[in-house]
This record gives sequence, C-alpha cells and structure tokens, in this order.
Amino acid sequence: MPTHKLLHHVLSIRNSKPVCMTLGIDNRCNLNCTFCLVKHREQTQMPLSLARQAIDAFPTIRSVELGLGEPTLHPNFAEIVRYIHNKGLKVGMGTNGTMLPKHNKDFWQMFSWLSIGITRFIDNPFQEIPDYDWLPCRHSYILVLHQGTPSSWEQQLEKFRAKNAGYVSIRLDVDANSKTKARFEDEYPDAVKYQERLLPYKGICYWACLKPMVYPNGVIYPCCSAKHGDYYRDYRLGMVLNKFNLQPIWVDCARCGRTEELSMIHKFLNDPDPQFM
Ligand code: SF4
Repeated sequence: MPTHKLLHHVLSIRNSKPVCMTLGIDNRCNLNCTFCLVKHREQTQMPLSLARQAIDAFPTIRSVELGLGEPTLHPNFAEIVRYIHNKGLKVGMGTNGTMLPKHNKDFWQMFSWLSIGITRFIDNPFQEIPDYDWLPCRHSYILVLHQGTPSSWEQQLEKFRAKNAGYVSIRLDVDANSKTKARFEDEYPDAVKYQERLLPYKGICYWACLKPMVYPNGVIYPCCSAKHGDYYRDYRLGMVLNKFNLQPIWVDCARCGRTEELSMIHKFLNDPDPQFM
C-alpha cells in the first residue's frame, strides 16, 4: 500500500475499522507451481453462507480482494462476486488466469482489478500465450522468477508483452536460495530487491486492523503471510461482530514485507506529530 494511502488510514487502524479485506474462498488450485506457499496449507472451501457473513462482518470496508488459492474454482464464485459488487464494494482478485474465459465480459466488468499470474507461460516456451486484452477491467500480471526459470525467460516475456499490454510485476520466489538470488542479481536486480524487502519483524502488528484476511474456514489472520494457526486462531467470524474488535497483536514473524509500514504506523500511533494528526 503506498505511504500516502497508509497514512490516510492511520486513524482507521487505531479504531479497528478495516478499509479492505482479503477473502480466501477456495484454497485449491488447478496448477502446481513449485514456489507456491498456499498449496502446503489445508485445502478447503468457504461455504457460501460463511462468505456472505465474512463480507458483512466488516461494515467499514470499501473493497474485497479475493485470493489465496484460485478463487475461480469455488462452485459459488460468481455468486460471491455479485454479492460483493451489489453491496457497492470494489472487488479485485489474484488469479492464475486459467478460468477467466469461463465468464463473459459483462461479468468481469464487476471487477476493479485483476492480478494474473503468468509464470507458467514464461517457464514453458511451448505453452500458447493467451490474449487477456479482451478483459474490460484493469489488469496487471505477476511473474515469479525461481530456481526452475529457464534461461530463455526474457524472450518468452517479450512474446507475452507483444500479445498483452499491461504492467508486469517481476518478483523473486520468496523462498529463493542464495544460488537463485545470485543468478538474477545482475539480470533482474529489482526482483532480488523485492525478496530482500522480506525481513524479520518482532513487535506490534497492526495489519489486521487495516486489512484482515479471512481464511476459507472463517479464521481471521493478520495477513496472508502469517503462519497457519498463529495469532488470531481464536478469532472467527461472528466473534468479531459480537465479542471482539480486531486489535493490534504482538508477533514474531520470520519474513514480512511490511516492516517499514508497520514501523511507520507504530510511530504515528504512539508518537504522533500534532501537525500531521
Ligand atoms: S508478516 Fe508482517 S503483516 Fe503479516 S502478521 Fe507478520 S508482521 Fe504482521
């Protein structure tokens, strides 16, 4: 989240009024990427009634991001999207793109944005590159460089770009070893920098107060990188409405991409500059 937006939301964080949420409706995926972290988690689907409850649980949110696994595989995917859209909320999604042609242009019009994984086209020179330019909503692409990335990846990316306009975010596998890092250091230093932003963080985490993540079983996590079973394991939907407010929590995370933001939030909440606040 850009810094100016983050600072705009500092008061929402203090009052535990999230502005958006991540909703994991289906943990399964129809691909098997070597670098995927979600595939090692419990494979489960969120019942439709729970999905509605999750969307209603945070009345202050303005947008819902579908992600964690491949959301389009959920049997009630279209219904859930319409429910979010009809509530006047923005909807975005991280997807592997395989199921996009199953729905028509009108359907995708409901989305504010899509982030489409393209690593499989870059990894396999024989795979046909699809045309995504028919999508009516804003969409960008994510490419993950990893241990098995072929040496021809830049040519493949050129082919993809020739067919599809839009921004491609290039990242390094979060679990990349030093050999993989060294390989891409000269070739693509920005991807290495992205991975190096993942730092240990010990302290108060405020992320759930800004953007809670609801897992398919209804458990709430502070973010999608938080380890399964940690932190909010006693926080389930229903409790948020009836019993608790989401509170900042003390964490000890091995790898966080938001350490700068968290330190900034901590500073503003605990030592606010009166001119700014
Ligand atoms: S990874 Fe970062 S954002 Fe997520 S729970 Fe840990 S400290 Fe918070």
